[in-house]
Amino acid sequence: MIAILSALASERDAVLEGVHVDRVVRKAAFRVFYGRHQGVELMVAATGIGKVSASARAQAAIGEFGATGVIFSGVAGGIGEGVRAGDLVIATETVQHDFDCTVFGYQPGEVPRPGSLAVASDGTYVEAARRAAARCAWEALPDGRRPAVHQGRILTGDQFVCSEETVARLAGTFGGLSVDMESAAVAQVASWNEVPFLVIRSFSDTAGGDAPAAFRGLSELAARNSARLALATFEELL
Ligand code: SAH
Repeated sequence: MIAILSALASERDAVLEGVHVDRVVRKAAFRVFYGRHQGVELMVAATGIGKVSASARAQAAIGEFGATGVIFSGVAGGIGEGVRAGDLVIATETVQHDFDCTVFGYQPGEVPRPGSLAVASDGTYVEAARRAAARCAWEALPDGRRPAVHQGRILTGDQFVCSEETVARLAGTFGGLSVDMESAAVAQVASWNEVPFLVIRSFSDTAGGDAPAAFRGLSELAARNSARLALATFEELL
């Protein structure tokens, strides 16, 4: 059964708008919604913010709650060239930008042993998301624009990025199209469990000095567009 996971309850609730919920299972503070989308079973849950919470809940979703595939849906700060608030990204790979063992000769972001820098999304899921993006009915952005959908590397770390200097440093070191606080952690957990995995994010902000205000203004709409693409991707995988 595929799990659609998000960090925040508001992002999860955007996914649940398209799901008929059959039952909710709770373990400690983790609530898993089992339901159906277009008659097919799936599970939906919020992992909490940051790499530790997201990893723990992703492991629980896979190990205890029966997820055999993971689509992560949520908001992020867009950082790449030509990327605008309200756009979306289909992540082809994820990097932990705050992982630093460079003093031992590793690359910035590289996790020693097994020595991986980027964790790739599942190819079949990426293809499904591409097809879904081509037919997805978006909610229009505040300026009336249709969101653009990008594809590429995304970055994760335990910090809300809200400075132009940090964006320039991260873009210079890693490239990448967005920053968030969970994706690469969940990717690593899914990969260790040999479970197919994909991240979809919609940009609530562009990670500069105005990011907190932009996040407050746009994150709910962005979460709904991300959820639409996640559910459309789920349909493509049926
Ligand atoms: N306002 C929230 C906290 C949001 S933290 C609260 O009070 O509960 C930001 C969330 O959105 C994280 O889950 C992260 O993955 C994503 N995000 C959006 N913009 C981001 C940015 N600029 N930097 C890092 N994460 C960002």
